[in-house]
Amino acid sequence: MADQKRDYYEVLGVDKNADEAALKKAYRELAKKYHPDANPGDKEAEAKFKEASEAYAVLSDPEKRRQYDQFGHAAFDGGAGGAGGFDFSSMDFSDIFGSFGDIFSGIFGGGGRSYGGNSNGPMKGANIRTRVDLDFLEAVFGCEKEIELTVKETCTSCNGSGAKKGTSPETCSTCGGKGQVVRTRQSMLGMMRSVEPCPDCGGSGKIIREKCPDCRGNGFVPMKKKYSVNIPAGIDNGQAVNMPGLGDPGRNGGPRGDARVEVRVRPHPVFQREGFDIFSNVPITIAQAALGGDVLIDTVDGKVVYNVKAGTQTDTRVRLKGKGVPSWRSKGVRGDHYINLIIKTPDKLSKEAREALIEFDRLTGDSLNEVARQTGKDPDDGGKKKKRFGK
Ligand SMILES: [Zn+2]
Ligand SMILES: [Zn+2]
Repeated sequence: MADQKRDYYEVLGVDKNADEAALKKAYRELAKKYHPDANPGDKEAEAKFKEASEAYAVLSDPEKRRQYDQFGHAAFDGGAGGAGGFDFSSMDFSDIFGSFGDIFSGIFGGGGRSYGGNSNGPMKGANIRTRVDLDFLEAVFGCEKEIELTVKETCTSCNGSGAKKGTSPETCSTCGGKGQVVRTRQSMLGMMRSVEPCPDCGGSGKIIREKCPDCRGNGFVPMKKKYSVNIPAGIDNGQAVNMPGLGDPGRNGGPRGDARVEVRVRPHPVFQREGFDIFSNVPITIAQAALGGDVLIDTVDGKVVYNVKAGTQTDTRVRLKGKGVPSWRSKGVRGDHYINLIIKTPDKLSKEAREALIEFDRLTGDSLNEVARQTGKDPDDGGKKKKRFGK
């Protein structure tokens, strides 16, 4: 990658010994030429602008310039997490303007496009979050839950103005109600103009002399409200239901934010879930596994009968089609339920059951005495074994 990049000095059109002022001058010329405001929608100009910004970011920093002089582009390649790396091609203009704000405000004044957003315009209110706990089956089939949200409501004492009863907010004299001030200052590149939020009114354009005691001048008071949420079938742990317009109020006439209700699903003792599929282990006996037969299996729809094939091995996976979780994406579609048939070895045997099992062993290969026979051990060992196995 490094060798595809143009040399930073070449990009700025300066020689290797260029001093700081020469770098700044060169960059300013290029920035003017390729500035997005002067070339709207021109991708090539955008790339050139970013390339020049990157070159200037490195060469204007004495330490980075020293590294670049020594190692070239390799100085900023790789490294842990790309720390210290430079790639402006993927950067936003607003990032670049953030880095060199002074230079750009000087070039185009305060009257150009705003990259930071107008603090006095309508703004959507903040989203609020809450959490709701669900049982496994509630998440599978959906449910209705009551939630309580603490929402900001317009203060009734001041009707949202924030000013004490009988007074009203005054227009800020510092910014004339615009919420923004233009700052002009001398910098190395000449006179710079920048637009900033008004320091006296905090960008609202209004000054409240006497604050409303009920909302402390905020215009809003927190209120607890109960809502009923429809939890859709198929929702999974960590997913959220969005309730538009139930968040905090917007500013300057903007809409309310949303309430996001995140669900936490309690684990189920038997069922596990992956996407829309359900998994569970189903214990069967040695006799069921060997002889086959019907077993009852728990599913989210209740018990179903499943016919185990004769000669089933342990850990056999069986798919119960369409017995999984309903999809919230496509109506009528359900995942599957996969069961693992696990042969349960009996650990408590009655005397009769034990004898029957030894007899079964004798008829099917006599594995209990096979080792003794093959190793030529004393018949006493067999006797011991027999004693141990109760015969
Ligand atoms: Zn109030
Ligand atoms: Zn102001």
